[in-house]
Amino acid sequence: MRIPMCEPDITTAEREAVLGVLHTPTLALGPRLELFERRVGEYIGVPYPVGVSSGTAGLHLCMIAAGVGDGDLVLTTPFSFVASANCVLYTGARPVFVDIDPDTLTIDPEALERAALALRPRVKAVLPVHVFGQPADMDPILEVARRHNLAVVEDACEAIGATYEHRAVGTLGDAGVFAFYPNKQMTTGEGGMIVTSKPKWDALFRSLRNQGRDVFDGWLAHSRLGYNYRLDELSAALGAVQVDRLDELLSKRERVASWYRARLKDTEGIRLLVQAPWTTRMSWFVYVVRLQPGSDRDQVIRELERCGIPARPYFPPIHLQPFYREKFGFRRGDFPVAEAAGDACLALPFFGTMHEEQVDTVCGALREVLHRLSSRTAVRRQAVG
Ligand SMILES: *Cc1c(COP(=O)(O)O)cnc(C)c1O
Repeated sequence: MRIPMCEPDITTAEREAVLGVLHTPTLALGPRLELFERRVGEYIGVPYPVGVSSGTAGLHLCMIAAGVGDGDLVLTTPFSFVASANCVLYTGARPVFVDIDPDTLTIDPEALERAALALRPRVKAVLPVHVFGQPADMDPILEVARRHNLAVVEDACEAIGATYEHRAVGTLGDAGVFAFYPNKQMTTGEGGMIVTSKPKWDALFRSLRNQGRDVFDGWLAHSRLGYNYRLDELSAALGAVQVDRLDELLSKRERVASWYRARLKDTEGIRLLVQAPWTTRMSWFVYVVRLQPGSDRDQVIRELERCGIPARPYFPPIHLQPFYREKFGFRRGDFPVAEAAGDACLALPFFGTMHEEQVDTVCGALREVLHRLSSRTAVRRQAVG
């Protein structure tokens, strides 16, 4: 039987909440959106969450709020999902990549400082990403931002509920964004949420997501260029139940991660990700192992696939994506740490409802595949030697 890569955790409560919306006439901009926003605000501890149609939409609006526009530069990491750099391009600005820390895989604050110094005054903002649910090293990042007068937008799309030195990610910079695509820790189908501590940004986000209408505008008075980035009531109703269950959802994922850790920690040929010293709570997004340098990851993926086990390279760095190569001329060698991580990281099936026997199956198959490949390599070496 095939094991899925990921699977949302949906119960009767979610089904009833969504069905309930269909018994009302209000399918957009209604009470469920307000309820969902209030619950996320309470969970994270922020006054102004703004529901939007996706994490990407939320990041785009944060760039606008930060005043990022034509010709500006935004410092960010190449080791992320492509959306965290695309949101910069949407504004006419350009993402400037900064390499990562080899252990935590998050943006390297010292390299960040060097880039900010070299490129001022064209740099407007920093966009750190809490990769795989692990917070970036925010204190030194905030320090760099303060010194150079940069806005800080946290891409917390993979990290809802994670804490950095006991502080919730998303609340550390000027704004933070969570995402609720079905592979994330909690889902609304499509959807996202911006959190900010700035009342002015809050009003701006509410206007921008709704075609530029000011919050107090009558119908059809559009004060600025806006978008349709609204979150509908069905998605919001689903999200309101999911965030109510978020502690449960996160602990189930934590438990699955601990099953993986127990089985894989001494496995030859792989390294597990480390928890950073500043991470006081990890929010498990994916379960990623690192293969030894020089291993044939694609072959590992193919052989696992043959056993009915999906696995994915995670992440192919953004600067090596075809669009970025063509548009900006990036090449292999530009960000060696991110590239090494991109070559070695392998995401295994991972979701909160995963059974311990399924983890057993994945780990058994992975060990067997690694063993087979390493003995094949040894034989080939002997033959050559
Ligand atoms: C998922 C994700 C996003 C975007 O989320 P969508 O809701 O799919 O638009 C942005 N950044 C990172 C790092 C993500 O993992």
